[in-house]
Amino acid sequence: MNNIKENLQTIHQSIQTACDKANRSKTEVHLLCVSKTKPEGLIKEAYAQGERHFGESYAVEASEKIQSLKAQGYNDITWHFIGPIQKNKTKLIAANFDIVESVDRSIVATRLNDQRPDDLPPLEVLVQVNISHEDQKSGCDESEIDEIIDTILQCKKLKVRGFMGIGTDTLDKDLIAQEFAHLKELFDNYKQKFTNFDILSMGMTHDLENAIMHGSNEVRIGTAIFGAREYKNKTMDKKIAFIGGGNMVTCIFESIIKSFAAKDLTVSGPHIEKLEKFKAQGANISTDNIETAKNADIVFLGVKPQILTGVLEELKNSGIDLSKKLFISMAAGYKLSSISRILDTHNIIRIMPNTPAKLGLGVIAIAYDSAVEDESKELCKKMLSFMGECIEGDENTLNVIGAVCGCGPAFVYRFMEALITEAIRHGIKPADARKMVEQTVFGSVQMVMKNQNTEISQLREAVTSKGGTTFAGLTKMTEGNFEKTMTNTIQASLDRTYEFEKLF
Ligand SMILES: *Cc1c(COP(=O)(O)O)cnc(C)c1O
Repeated sequence: MNNIKENLQTIHQSIQTACDKANRSKTEVHLLCVSKTKPEGLIKEAYAQGERHFGESYAVEASEKIQSLKAQGYNDITWHFIGPIQKNKTKLIAANFDIVESVDRSIVATRLNDQRPDDLPPLEVLVQVNISHEDQKSGCDESEIDEIIDTILQCKKLKVRGFMGIGTDTLDKDLIAQEFAHLKELFDNYKQKFTNFDILSMGMTHDLENAIMHGSNEVRIGTAIFGAREYKNKTMDKKIAFIGGGNMVTCIFESIIKSFAAKDLTVSGPHIEKLEKFKAQGANISTDNIETAKNADIVFLGVKPQILTGVLEELKNSGIDLSKKLFISMAAGYKLSSISRILDTHNIIRIMPNTPAKLGLGVIAIAYDSAVEDESKELCKKMLSFMGECIEGDENTLNVIGAVCGCGPAFVYRFMEALITEAIRHGIKPADARKMVEQTVFGSVQMVMKNQNTEISQLREAVTSKGGTTFAGLTKMTEGNFEKTMTNTIQASLDRTYEFEKLF
């Protein structure tokens, strides 16, 4: 069900991208695989991919897994305890773990020291500092850090290595950034005073990039590697239906199951055999659109625009209560007003992802109808967050994003095809031509992303000396009216969008 190997490749790529953006080397940032609530088998899969650092939050469950894995010869794993520490669990933690990241009271430090078996090396500890703006998060107050570190320094069997912090659980990236930046500042201060003070553990699946931007050197990742956790007595309170099981639904589904339980998802479509892949991941499947929508709180409208009118009318005529449901449509050119006219509700969101969303590198445009509440907006963004960058706006913005980012990949491919054709015309082997162009485009994008404070035109000028070879080429682009061609290209895509809008 979970593809650990692929997930790890993706997460290492995300770390790489974040490091590139932050101008840091990837070797500075360590991956801690958070395997709490997950079975031993998945830990072994991650181990087989070379991972050696695992994080756990529940002392009893973790100790069983650790001992079992040790008995099977997995002796070179470094085990990190990252959960809240109850006093009656310190003995288990001291006996089984290598690093404890969640020390937030002196009494816990003292107990861990007293209970650390003599035959084990000193237990490494991080002080967990409460940096979040939420009330009930664990971690000590900033004012208590000195006292806790003093205690740790007196403990022979403990060694202090740094700080751990958890950002507020919010989509407000600026707030999280402030929190991380603050902990980094504290870390830099203490680092000057203590040798061995070298771990700054910040960042989880949803705020990894932000954490790396602000100096984290250890990210603790669970969901993106092992999938969403299903707690026995905690199920999601929302049921989600997908009408249609095509490419874009598949892409959105893959994003949603990273943070929601598959059993709360149902996909319906006319051909049940095409839906088997959703079932294999634990979702429900059906050929009955009405029944699927009836039981859901959120209904994704994932059919082609030409078919959507029929589906909407079917829903309306079924007599089921649509007033409390949130509808999310991905039909291009199908306006909110056209949907609301049939469904008689304004609780509708339009989204427009582009195809790189399949790799988590998409741009997703989002526009809301008048009755969509803030909570639904947050939920929608959370569901799509693994597909790429969400950009909110009105329907006009959505159309423009459609032309620039939705069609954009095809324009970029066309440009790449032309470069490849020319390389081949001048004697390069096709396979080499493709490699060359791939790397040139990829490298140029990295240059742009890594130099956020430099205008792209400045980067262009840096490769263009007057009268030189690039200059000669660019002059031809100007003579060929490149800018005008792009103006016409985008305009034509937009015009076509407006024509579609008139159809529905
Ligand atoms: C569970 C947990 C994580 C992992 O969170 P994901 O969102 O699943 O990546 C990281 N840090 C702590 C302290 C945790 O409890």
